[in-house]
Amino acid sequence: MSLFDVYSVYELTIVRGRDVYVYDDEGNRYLDLYGGHAVISIGHSHPGYVKALSDQLSKLAFYSNAVKNPLQDELSDHLNDISAMQDYQLFLCNSGAEANENALKLASFHTGKKKIVAFENGFHGRTSAAVSVTDNDKIISPLNAQHDVELLPFDDIERFEQVLSNGDVAAVIFEAIQGIGGLDEPSIDFVQSMSRICRENGTVLIADEVQCGFGRTGDFFAFSCFGIQPDIVSMAKGMGNGFPVGGILIHPGLKPKKGMLGSTFGGNHLACTSALSVLKEIENMDLMNQARLCHNYFKDQLDLLGTDVKLKGRGLMLGLEFDFPVDQLRQTLMFKHHVLTGSSKNKNLLRLLPPLTIQPHHFDIFFNALNQELPWKSIQRSAI
Ligand code: PLP
Repeated sequence: MSLFDVYSVYELTIVRGRDVYVYDDEGNRYLDLYGGHAVISIGHSHPGYVKALSDQLSKLAFYSNAVKNPLQDELSDHLNDISAMQDYQLFLCNSGAEANENALKLASFHTGKKKIVAFENGFHGRTSAAVSVTDNDKIISPLNAQHDVELLPFDDIERFEQVLSNGDVAAVIFEAIQGIGGLDEPSIDFVQSMSRICRENGTVLIADEVQCGFGRTGDFFAFSCFGIQPDIVSMAKGMGNGFPVGGILIHPGLKPKKGMLGSTFGGNHLACTSALSVLKEIENMDLMNQARLCHNYFKDQLDLLGTDVKLKGRGLMLGLEFDFPVDQLRQTLMFKHHVLTGSSKNKNLLRLLPPLTIQPHHFDIFFNALNQELPWKSIQRSAI
């Protein structure tokens, strides 16, 4: 049987990982500046995480949501504390798309409406409603295209207000920093007005923190620097450090009804253990502060190069925008320098999403590689 051939796969087989490094099947070591799509938060195979999961596995891997699971309560308490989203409720699922699907569904139940507003260049996953709120036709099947969706540009508040004022919008979903779109952010003014207009019109505001959340930007949630409180926050990726777990935080004003949401695997014992372990290590290792410090180091190194390459993002959600397509550069970094980086919809942008355990000296490896490959165009060698 062959695999259903939907992924563009590099000639690279990774067989093990340790902290910020991964190793291929020939024993070569690679610096992981991509974290496998922003998933690795506390480092590959962190010893505390491995122990917590191994211990739980030897006790109980799974039982269904038909019985009590105190690990879920422990996780919701810990999330309340670290995110300062007091009194929010937690619903657990298994991926980012599922988190957004449930968020959108809940907003629709709550408001009794079905229209969704989302933003150009956003990405929210590949389940039915989640995929319909993107502008990438290639991933929207006719089945998904049935949803009632309007896509707007960031920062056009007049247009936003006009659409919301019709009173038929169940939810607005946005990324505080667009991941796959290429690290663009809306302005503070726009987000604050958006939040106010949602409130005035009874529309549920959903912050998709699947990629930018869980400490990656130096704040636990990236929306927090806008000074707003969304009604629903979706999470996944870094939440489980590789174990599939996702969830939504839900404002106390949105009331649950038995059976309205559900998942067989959601919030299982291993998933909760992985998320608890991630939260514990984020605090123990002060990783949010570390993300801010590393960002500053990265910025300083870039400034030293005297380059006109544009730095985008916050904390350890970084984008370097060049004035040429970076696909070839990414491959050279990977195969020649053994540094893994990511791409985005913006072909000129190198996306860096390293484990939050990265240290400044690891970035030196990246900058040395860049200097070797691009002695040229925008980076001025004389300034090095
Ligand atoms: N939301 C955002 C912002 C994402 O970046 C992604 C994945 O890249 C998703 C949702 C979907 O997450 P998943 O692939 O876990 O379904």
